[in-house]
Amino acid sequence: MTNLKDSLKKAAQEDYALGHFNFSTLGILRAVVLACKNLKSVVFVGTSEGEAKYVGYKQAVALVRAFREETGLPIFLNADHHKTFETAKIAIDAGYDSVQIDETALSFEENIKVSRRVAEYAKSVNHEISVEGGLGYIRGSSEIHKEKIEARPEDMTSPEEAKDFVAKTGVDRLAIVFGNIHGVSLAGNPRLDIERLKQIHAAIHEIPLTLHGGSGIIDGDIKACLPHGMSNIHVNTEIRAAYTNALRASLAADQEQTTPYQYTSSADKAAQKIVEGKLKLFGAANIL
Ligand SMILES: [Zn+2]
Repeated sequence: MTNLKDSLKKAAQEDYALGHFNFSTLGILRAVVLACKNLKSVVFVGTSEGEAKYVGYKQAVALVRAFREETGLPIFLNADHHKTFETAKIAIDAGYDSVQIDETALSFEENIKVSRRVAEYAKSVNHEISVEGGLGYIRGSSEIHKEKIEARPEDMTSPEEAKDFVAKTGVDRLAIVFGNIHGVSLAGNPRLDIERLKQIHAAIHEIPLTLHGGSGIIDGDIKACLPHGMSNIHVNTEIRAAYTNALRASLAADQEQTTPYQYTSSADKAAQKIVEGKLKLFGAANIL
């Protein structure tokens, strides 16, 4: 089976992006796997610190391994937005394929220090683990925001700093900020700065880039990213919203129903539909 590093490099070379989808229930994980199976795509799933705390690190690894064995699909598990060396280490030790060390709230120097430590530790455990670093501040959180949230000029990733950061940390891929936010802003999502993306890609050409906050971005902006090294796009909020809306409708429609796998099945299907739509948009269908 191919590893994640090779899958991301192939995506960058062939101008598509792998979708990265978060899960905190078995039903949502299965929905992502089914979507990828239907569309012949690589499965890239993640748990944030909160999601991993609920699911369990070892449990997440075991679930992913079971789906991998059953389907034969390349399935990779990422520790999404891990904020300390200690939590990143828990994920690495549990057998995650990937970890995102997110120290973007710290100074540039502190960010380098922790990211380098995680990259070195990951490589000492298993060379195939892909480590994602991040530069630039992503506003918002994975939910529907009523107010307008937009990236400010000082939040954006600088191409020069990106080059310096990658050289000093040894991370395998980089999350960047060029207009993206977390969540969906109902007052209008900000546009992506494709010129900045091009400059960052030119500065660190060999490093696959990650777009966080892929929910709610207009399709044209997503497509414009694909030829410029954007090999991985994160979607969480749109799945959460579709799942929750379908679940609410299902509970309201049949108030006698008490079987969880009955009343969650339409929610799982709603999540699957979002994932399938994103895989097509990212050019990630029929890549296996
Ligand atoms: Zn994110």
